[in-house]
Amino acid sequence: MTFSGSLLDPADRYRNDENWIKARLDDSQSRYLVLWTLQVLVTGDEALALVWLTRSDVENELPGAFAAAPVFLGVDAEGAAYFAVDADGVAGETAPFPGSGQFLELRATASRLQGGEAGILARARSMVDWHKRHGFCACCGQISYITRGGYMRKCSNLACGAEHFPRVDPVVIMLIIRGDNCLLGRQTRFPDGMFSVLAGFIEPGETIEEAVRRESHEEAGIRVGAVRYVASQPWPFPSNLMIGCEAEALTEEITLDTQELEAAFWVSRADIRRVMAGDKTLGFSLPASVAIARQLLDRWVGE
Ligand SMILES: [Zn+2]
Repeated sequence: MTFSGSLLDPADRYRNDENWIKARLDDSQSRYLVLWTLQVLVTGDEALALVWLTRSDVENELPGAFAAAPVFLGVDAEGAAYFAVDADGVAGETAPFPGSGQFLELRATASRLQGGEAGILARARSMVDWHKRHGFCACCGQISYITRGGYMRKCSNLACGAEHFPRVDPVVIMLIIRGDNCLLGRQTRFPDGMFSVLAGFIEPGETIEEAVRRESHEEAGIRVGAVRYVASQPWPFPSNLMIGCEAEALTEEITLDTQELEAAFWVSRADIRRVMAGDKTLGFSLPASVAIARQLLDRWVGE
């Protein structure tokens, strides 16, 4: 599953040790991943690799880049520490490190990275994005500062002292099945012709199963019975956890919520297979394998 399987140990045990973090930031073995406008520095053509820089590489190109604390990403098997650095605010409008690689958007990059690097990237992007948008305390409005290697922000107002933690937003994404058919829908923002499985944010006070049933009914008017968990995927746009399920439909009549979906239809397993094999005559396409939606469909047609 793309964006999972990081090879780094996130090493929570070190995060409270400010001296350890500081020593790693000064350690010549430590490596830094630079994000610029939330894009990531990579090298390669078809197969890509993340570009890991030393602290002096980063500071030579971007003086002041370490003023905002880098986010600790973890340690490798040899004990070397890895961090993410946000270049925004210290880099200009043109991409830094032109001699080291190119900055690419994550969706285009992730499936071309090797060996668990997309998992590292998911953590890096979600964390850097969270810090960008949480500079101020949500309780009192004062400036908050980064601590615990980036895994907490603490309010600078001593009278408040609120602690803020990185958020993960759970989303249910469900393959709704009725016999040998499944339900596909499309949102207006999808690429032309692409249809996918339904999805929606879990609301406070809901179980996964309840969210699947509510979303299926709200978006397409379908009543759902049994819900089975299949797999999950971190989706760092900005910080979702996609919870992939199969859901047994109890009804077939589609009633669209046109705020959510512009179209939806039942499609047979055989037709899904034809589209996967490249048949364009059916008039729709499916998500790429980077998305769990495609993994759910692949699994179902393989049964
Ligand atoms: Zn506060």
